[in-house]
Amino acid sequence: MGLFGGRKTVFVDADILVIGGGMAGCGATYESRYWGRDLKIVCVEKANIERSGAVAQGLYAINCYMGMQWGENQPEDHVRYARNDLMGLVREDLGYDIARHVDSTVHKFEEWGLPIMRDPKTGRYQREGKWQIMIHGESYKPIVAEAARKAATEVYNRIMVTHLLMDTEKANRVAGAVGFNVRTGDFHVFRAKAVIVSAGGASHIFQPRSVGEGMGRTWYAPWSSASAYALPIQVGAKMTQMENRIVLTRFKDGYGPVGAYFLHLKTYTQNGYGEEYEKRWYEDTKALVGDYIDRHPVPTCLRNHAILKEVAAGRGPIRMVTKEAFQDPHKETVGWENFLGMTIGQAVVWASQNIDPKEINPELTTSEPYVMGSHATCSGAWASGPEDYAPAEYQWGYNRMMTVDGLFGAGDTIGGTAHKFSSGSFTEGRIAAKAAVKYVMEKGKEQPQVSEKEVRDLQQTIYQPLENYRVGRNEIVAGTVSPSYLLPIHGLQRLEKIMDEYVGGISTNYMTNGVLLDRGLELLAMLKEDMSHMGAEDLHQLQRAWELNHRLLASESVAHHTLFREETRWPGYYYRADHMKLDDANWHCFTLSRYDRNTGSWAMEKAPVYHIVD
Ligand SMILES: Cc1cc2nc3c(=O)[nH]c(=O)nc-3n(C[C@H](O)[C@H](O)[C@H](O)COP(=O)(O)OP(=O)(O)OC[C@H]3O[C@@H](n4cnc5c(N)ncnc54)[C@H](O)[C@@H]3O)c2cc1C
Repeated sequence: MGLFGGRKTVFVDADILVIGGGMAGCGATYESRYWGRDLKIVCVEKANIERSGAVAQGLYAINCYMGMQWGENQPEDHVRYARNDLMGLVREDLGYDIARHVDSTVHKFEEWGLPIMRDPKTGRYQREGKWQIMIHGESYKPIVAEAARKAATEVYNRIMVTHLLMDTEKANRVAGAVGFNVRTGDFHVFRAKAVIVSAGGASHIFQPRSVGEGMGRTWYAPWSSASAYALPIQVGAKMTQMENRIVLTRFKDGYGPVGAYFLHLKTYTQNGYGEEYEKRWYEDTKALVGDYIDRHPVPTCLRNHAILKEVAAGRGPIRMVTKEAFQDPHKETVGWENFLGMTIGQAVVWASQNIDPKEINPELTTSEPYVMGSHATCSGAWASGPEDYAPAEYQWGYNRMMTVDGLFGAGDTIGGTAHKFSSGSFTEGRIAAKAAVKYVMEKGKEQPQVSEKEVRDLQQTIYQPLENYRVGRNEIVAGTVSPSYLLPIHGLQRLEKIMDEYVGGISTNYMTNGVLLDRGLELLAMLKEDMSHMGAEDLHQLQRAWELNHRLLASESVAHHTLFREETRWPGYYYRADHMKLDDANWHCFTLSRYDRNTGSWAMEKAPVYHIVD
């Protein structure tokens, strides 16, 4: 069968196209229908929205809830919290916008059937920490997906979007997207007046600690493959804070969450000799970051920093002291349920390694870095802010619109807004959708124009790895290494090795410098040259090939941003050995990049940070 034999081309016209039906995508789809009763709203997802994205397996806590109905927190408090955790650099306008609306989102989740635990004494939602509320969340994603399914005109599952389409008549305006069905191979062309990208963040950019048969066991889901960044980057959208990768301290080998342990069970950490160690590194950290170390709570990256220093000093491993808390049967139940509700693998790892946390204090470790926009990190696209709150410099049109006309984003896609988590991502999807509907209404009957030639060329490019394999496999009689094509797994391992060794991964203890970054960029460019030789044995591998393409483009962006920011803003996430200190005089700013797909070059610039909340 030739390249296109037996495969259909499906054309879909939409008013609003939502790419990625995770938390933000479901929020966007739901809200698009609320404001756009008569609009055609299409959600396209590479898995199945029923169980897709980072929340697929369920969650045990909603990490962003103000509790304004009980006067627990105000949106300004959350802005201060996120700003502190990100060492001063967040888009306060965007964060405030999410925080002021997030409670209403959580109330909807409860209305739709999500069981939220309540404090029996007060009747309020059971708090795990200042911002987190506890849920019975195994079915969190199906509940949210049901709302999106009912709101959408059509949901297309199992379609991986590979490229955005641009308008042929109007410069810098988005016109839709293309992709392929990962089960049937059908080619899909979506034409849309507005596009909302909500395709999650990126794992497997850096070499993971788990290798070989365990390489899929990462903290962040392996299917989060950087499309949220690559799609906008390809069409020239500006990105921000891509250097702000996140490193997580988690239970060793299973990446089980520690939030409920610290906050609810009140467990704490010790070094390998049973000693407290954080205070030991106070002066050292202060010399690097000044009084950011005195802030409360201590920023996430700085807590990692103390662990890294202690382990490097030879006093590892770091352990979570669970033996005391687990004597209380209630806390023991919560400890196990926490894993069973969201990271079953950690319970299995403990069982298989003879770890009973009542008897043994389990080890913690720091993860490989990930790129995302909704956790204790804020990489992503540079977006226009809310009309009533954003400084003029942060407004160029509609709320959450990127620097490309008609292209919106939410959740992990949007940069500068840490700590939105699942509820905040859904909320941001709603915010983006409301603005996208307004955009579509104001454009009226104006249809974006798509170039037939561009679509045909993309079709050729997308399926080429199948052809490369079909022809090239005849040159070898056995094995997987071919002189004429590169399999996705080989390309992925090459990418991870480059990022790990040159851009601050685990093998260098998160350390890099200008010389390493320059070389890393050269090696990434060589990998990019080889991408036209990708070989895919089947549709599954074709998807892997395109995921690698997306990861590679996002990685280039991370490397350029890391090179541009000449300071170490987040020790514990990564270190610029040639600029080891935080430098507020020169770098209290956002970093922005813009990729030119015609030349393959990146333009970097700084953007001011406005502190709107005192
Ligand atoms: C390990 C982990 C633990 C977490 N724990 C908590 C917690 O306890 N509480 C909490 O509130 N939050 C938690 N979060 C945060 C929360 O999961 C995220 O904030 C949220 O899922 C982000 O929403 P999103 O829509 O941006 O991404 P996702 O929810 O990940 O959705 C992205 C969607 O895009 C789809 N997609 C990707 N690429 C393509 C493509 N090319 N074409 C089509 N579709 C595509 C994916 O399949 C997916 O469905 C956690 C996150 C992680 C990773």
